Amino acid sequence: MGLTVVIAASEATPFAKTGGLADVAGSLPVALKHLGCRVIVFVPYYREVAQKGFEIEETGLHVPVNMGRRTVKAEVLIGAQHGVPFYFLKRDEYFDRGYLYGTPEGDYFDNLERFTFFSRAVLEVIKARDLAPDIIHCNDWQTGLIPAYLKDIYRDESVFSKTASVLTVHNIAYQGQFPANFYDITGLGAHLFNPEGLEFWGNLNLLKSGIVFADAITTVSRGYSAEIQTPEYGYGLEGVLAKRKDDLFGILNGVDYTEWDPATDTHIPHNFTIEEIKGKSDCRKKLLKAFGLKVKAKTPVIGMITRLADQKGIDILSEAMPELMKLDIAMVILGSGDRRYQELLADLAGHYPDRLSIKIAFNSGLSHMVEAGSDMFLMPSRYEPCGLNQIYSLKYGTVPIVRATGGLDDTVRDYSSGDGNGFKFKEYSAEALIEKVMEAAVVFGDKKAWAEIQRRGMAEDFSWTDAAKKYLEVYKSTQARLHKT
Ligand code: ADP
Repeated sequence: MGLTVVIAASEATPFAKTGGLADVAGSLPVALKHLGCRVIVFVPYYREVAQKGFEIEETGLHVPVNMGRRTVKAEVLIGAQHGVPFYFLKRDEYFDRGYLYGTPEGDYFDNLERFTFFSRAVLEVIKARDLAPDIIHCNDWQTGLIPAYLKDIYRDESVFSKTASVLTVHNIAYQGQFPANFYDITGLGAHLFNPEGLEFWGNLNLLKSGIVFADAITTVSRGYSAEIQTPEYGYGLEGVLAKRKDDLFGILNGVDYTEWDPATDTHIPHNFTIEEIKGKSDCRKKLLKAFGLKVKAKTPVIGMITRLADQKGIDILSEAMPELMKLDIAMVILGSGDRRYQELLADLAGHYPDRLSIKIAFNSGLSHMVEAGSDMFLMPSRYEPCGLNQIYSLKYGTVPIVRATGGLDDTVRDYSSGDGNGFKFKEYSAEALIEKVMEAAVVFGDKKAWAEIQRRGMAEDFSWTDAAKKYLEVYKSTQARLHKT
């Protein structure tokens, strides 16, 4: 019998998504199941989940959740994905909202309460259902309390006697920090509120909780696992991570090719493959139409799909835009997020209506069109833990232009290497970005060289099987280390 693995995540495709975490939490469970694990996933029952009309049923189970100041009930619903059960934790007061974590104006004020509720409810359902997991795999700050609970309040519960916790850090900049005076909501004792525990410069820090108390920590690329141990990328947690470096592993995210393969993609108007790539130019035509642009075949179309957040390099992009728009290129951008970046981009698009088109939306169908129809894909990130779009781009023959950081650096090889699958610049600056786009635009003019770069990328395989095996190794070695098996 394989391991019993509980995955707790604040978002998972296809149910609810704001970013890469959802892709991981939707795909990894299925890949682990194929490796023989018994996998159960927990996700909040957001309004988005309810509205999408999945087959989700009541279980009749309600569990009490101690919130420090009061005890509330979680209703437990169940659905499935490729044979993996998904438990949805329902409490409308927390999750029946327009967004997952906050509006474009900022975070919801009660996120501590919302995700404390979720984290504790996961443990209560495990108890109520006697799931006895070998592993509870937590993700990001939203579930960062779970490892602390396992080491403290739930330590002597027999259902957790063989349970080890693993925390995956998908993005260290999002830490779930809250004022100390709300600490009692967690229900944890004062003995844990100190710099060795959940305290971070006087605040409560949920990601730190996970890093300190999890039995193993993973992050989503090798490069990022090294970067976050440095002050430049660690967002203040580099010291805490350095202490755990022997238990920290970088595992590159896989890609779900049942979703992201131009040969079978149902969201795009024309399928194509490495051998028969003609459909791509038809996709390009449709993409340009959807974005209201008219450009000649010789003009490369650069696509972007992005959360509009500080890390994504929108600042250097907007600084670079006047120079970029002097080149013979066109750009399509699909993005959602911070209001100020929405306005900045809309303003830019107003200046270059023939060359630059922007859609402010979160639209999964359209994101497939951008991948399929663009010639190049730009990711000028300040930092990028893994990055999925550059990996999707490779499969779609859409040559990535990326900044050399984190997972972007791990997956893209610069054209100059002779074996390149894309273009990569080092310095985080508008100048470096412009220079690389210029270089890519020149190579685009050389059809033979371009086809070669496309072919290299399209032939690469980043499927989940490999990544899931690495997670399984971490699960097993952690169990062995704790002598829990
Ligand atoms: P992050 O998690 O930092 O947002 P990743 O590259 O790891 O970055 O994952 C982003 C995921 O979210 C990708 O699957 C991407 O296609 C998707 N995505 C981001 N913004 C949008 C959008 N505006 N519309 C549709 N999908 C989006």
